[in-house]
Amino acid sequence: MDSEKPRDIIFISGASRGIGAAIAVYLAASGFDIWLNYRSSHEAAAAVKEKIEQHGRTCLLLPFDVADNHKAKEILEPLLQKDTPFGLIHNAGITRDTLLPMMKKEEWDDVINVHLNSYYTLGRIFSRAMISAKRGRIIAISSVSGETGQAGQVNYSAAKAGLIGASKALARELARRNILVNVVSPGLIDTEMTHGLAVDELIGLIPLRRLGRADEIAGVVRFLLSDEASYITGQVFSVNGGLYM
Ligand code: NAD
Repeated sequence: MDSEKPRDIIFISGASRGIGAAIAVYLAASGFDIWLNYRSSHEAAAAVKEKIEQHGRTCLLLPFDVADNHKAKEILEPLLQKDTPFGLIHNAGITRDTLLPMMKKEEWDDVINVHLNSYYTLGRIFSRAMISAKRGRIIAISSVSGETGQAGQVNYSAAKAGLIGASKALARELARRNILVNVVSPGLIDTEMTHGLAVDELIGLIPLRRLGRADEIAGVVRFLLSDEASYITGQVFSVNGGLYM
């Protein structure tokens, strides 16, 4: 891959830490330049940028809230006049867990905005550029919660299931434009998002008896950006240690 596409760019949302940061560094090590979005953690993002540059690749930091449609357009559209990334990885995410009878409207709205409404924003902006470039790959990071439903996560499960439906529809729209659209659906991965959970109890539900690592998600994303994945579109890749089969 390195010798064939040395200067391809990948945009990753929510990449200042966790799975997004792992994807960014992994892809840089595989020869991609990175456009790295994050919301507000400037120091963490600068540290990821440094790791990317250690692999001899460039990293453009793009701090903005993916739920802010106007800001995303303001920042991305001028950049897309000059370059079109080969890949969009929509990874940014939050949780606001509580049972539905207790859920505040803003807890519902925040989760839907960050995961799903942002897919409209980013998917629209990047797919227009990719159509002109006549190639591209779009990958959404969903979740096992979107596949099975999870108590206490009606908002998050709805958003993540929505990403699966949206990706399959977009895959059908863009296939004849040489743009492939897929979903990677992690199970329980060891990041700050899972640090508050009762991990010891949850591990008993996972056939592989451990949490996943962020680089195990990054590896699947890298595969989906490779030439070997050129006949795969509209699919969901579950990376969950067997938690959901
Ligand atoms: P994390 O909390 O460690 O990182 C989330 C990242 O998203 C951070 O960099 C954060 O700054 C960014 N972000 C949040 N809101 C944003 C916004 N409005 N605009 C821009 N950036 C924003 O979480 P993680 O575990 O790395 O999760 C990454 C993705 O994987 C999320 O979509 C999450 O739902 C999904 N996921 C995680 C797990 C898990 O077990 N960790 C499981 C399934 C799916």
